[in-house]
Amino acid sequence: MPTVLKVAAVLDVDKDRVIPDGFVLVADGKIRSWGNRVDLPTLSPGTAILSFPQQTLMPGLINSHAHLCAPSGGQPFYLKQSNEMALLTAVRNMRRELLSGVTTVRDCGDQNGVLFALRKAVNRRILDGPRFVLCGPPLTTTGGHAHFLGGVADGPTEIARVVRRRIADKADFIKIIGTGGGTPGTHPARASYSREELAAAVSAAHRLDVPVTVHCRGTPGIVNALEAGVDQIEHACFERPDGSLGFDPELARRIARAGICVTPTIQLYRDAQSHLKKKAFARGLNAAEQKRLSGLPAVIDSKLKALQGLLAAGVKVVAGNDAGLPYTGFGCLWQELDAMMSGGMTAMQAIAAATRTAARMLGMEDRIGSIQAGKQADLLVIDGDPTTDISALSRVRLVMLAGRTVFQKIEV
Ligand SMILES: [Zn+2]
Repeated sequence: MPTVLKVAAVLDVDKDRVIPDGFVLVADGKIRSWGNRVDLPTLSPGTAILSFPQQTLMPGLINSHAHLCAPSGGQPFYLKQSNEMALLTAVRNMRRELLSGVTTVRDCGDQNGVLFALRKAVNRRILDGPRFVLCGPPLTTTGGHAHFLGGVADGPTEIARVVRRRIADKADFIKIIGTGGGTPGTHPARASYSREELAAAVSAAHRLDVPVTVHCRGTPGIVNALEAGVDQIEHACFERPDGSLGFDPELARRIARAGICVTPTIQLYRDAQSHLKKKAFARGLNAAEQKRLSGLPAVIDSKLKALQGLLAAGVKVVAGNDAGLPYTGFGCLWQELDAMMSGGMTAMQAIAAATRTAARMLGMEDRIGSIQAGKQADLLVIDGDPTTDISALSRVRLVMLAGRTVFQKIEV
């Protein structure tokens, strides 16, 4: 049945503008027409009308960096859990994302590939979930960051084999861990793989037209990623092996020239800071927590400055919040957009980073990412105007996925 949504405003992220008194006409899962209500076509009999006289309609959000299998809620990312528990955790988490308006999730590392089965269940309508963009378990060195997810591969030959395995399993992209990270025993600012190993992953993936992204928590990882010819970079933290923080403008220009898209993941540091502050007030901190808390202001500052520098260099930036980490949960992508605005983006730029730009990075811009006739009707209706108050994104009234209403807030 065709449906027309009548709203106070439609967000046109392709042209950075807001259309007042808007409408979107949906039929057969796709957007058929849209614009100002003076242009509303004659509706065929039986068209359903949904009126939101005070609300804004926008494209569904894309979270470009999440870990659906990870529990969050204060539990460590490296929690040992069975594949069944990982899958059940992902079911809960995908629902939280969907109900918050995230209609596409790019999962940046699952456990042993369990999300491939979940995607099948969603595609068969056994469960409601967002669109999935999957990589399976990220490739990592023996004992390296996130090794417990099941993606260990060492040396160019084994790496190429695992990349081919992932693609045969229907991975949409390859994720490789280029430096250490939060996993105990790893060094975030040091490269884990050699350039030759990264290049082996890129070569095997590109031969099959699959993009590669690299987890880079330190500058040496970014340098290796550039040399290896990757397509995307996660985190892009400018931390040197000696522990010093410092943005490198020349490196940013190289990222821009290479056309590499970056997911900066800023909010997770603010989440950790607010959690530790609360804990300090309530129960006190141990020495390790105290050390982490005292270092976080400088880390957050460096992340915000790096975002400013990346934007100034012309790097394409997308929104992903690393949901699944201990203090960064699901259903709150808007907070990452808020963090990106603290790093110098306008509200419209931040929203584009979670819609249009992300769709382009995923190679899905012909299907999702903006309100355009012919695109999938992945739509979100929210209370308020996110261009003047980004927290309006947390007040979701309706979520539509491919023309199907998957959430509607009932007024009581
Ligand atoms: Zn991550």
